[in-house]
Amino acid sequence: MKRIYALLMALGLILLLSLSASGANQSGFRILVDGETLDSPASYISQDGTAMVSLRAIAEALGCNVVWDPVTRTASVSSAALPEEAPQYSALVVLDPGHGGEANGAEYGGVMEKDLNLSIASQAAVLLEEAGVTVLMTRTDDRYVDLYDRTALANGQKADLFVSVHCNANVDHDDVTGIYTCAYSRDTNGWRLAQLLHQTMREAAGADDFGMEERPNLAVLRTSLVPAALVECGFMSTEEELARLVRPEYQAKLARGIADGILAYLAQ
Ligand SMILES: [Zn+2]
Repeated sequence: MKRIYALLMALGLILLLSLSASGANQSGFRILVDGETLDSPASYISQDGTAMVSLRAIAEALGCNVVWDPVTRTASVSSAALPEEAPQYSALVVLDPGHGGEANGAEYGGVMEKDLNLSIASQAAVLLEEAGVTVLMTRTDDRYVDLYDRTALANGQKADLFVSVHCNANVDHDDVTGIYTCAYSRDTNGWRLAQLLHQTMREAAGADDFGMEERPNLAVLRTSLVPAALVECGFMSTEEELARLVRPEYQAKLARGIADGILAYLAQ
């Protein structure tokens, strides 16, 4: 038996692998990764007796992805195979899917904002609950909820934070895109929450940046006694962005971004 060690740089981490090569197959030897025979035609024993195994073969056997950049001659190994214990949060969060019932919100191309808001917020709620956060929704179906009742829920439950989820529209410009977030004022914890959401939503969705703003006149921000932010997930009035917003994969990314921003706020 010949033992070899391979060092992989994966996501900035050094992964130390212990491989055992033993026995023989049609290519002359056998390599085991976690007890499984590695089926790699790119493996061989060199003249000096060293077992050579392709980086791709090892990485893929470990469930990693390998990307080869021929320009820089760099192999990148990214891994979902390095399990990390997700931190658990004990917090109470109120998510507010904007509009509902007779209040459709923006309407473009037969799509109603209230439906997008509910879909995205509901998915964010699932992700937050997976992280141990208790989530209260101001609505879980297509019904009208008064603006003041929305923040009353957060205030009454002494929630850790309140996030209202909307989609944007611009009647003057049909080409604007991106994530927009706002809070009552820069001096509030809600602003910090909005900042984090702005960053994580853009990262998760790969979306453009439409900026942040103080919005002291928005009822849900003005009446919230807990840190509150409002997010606009993108412009329904821009055809290409509406096409993204209705796609389940894109909604899932936005939901991930919302959950990540909230978790980042709770972790600070
Ligand atoms: Zn809205």
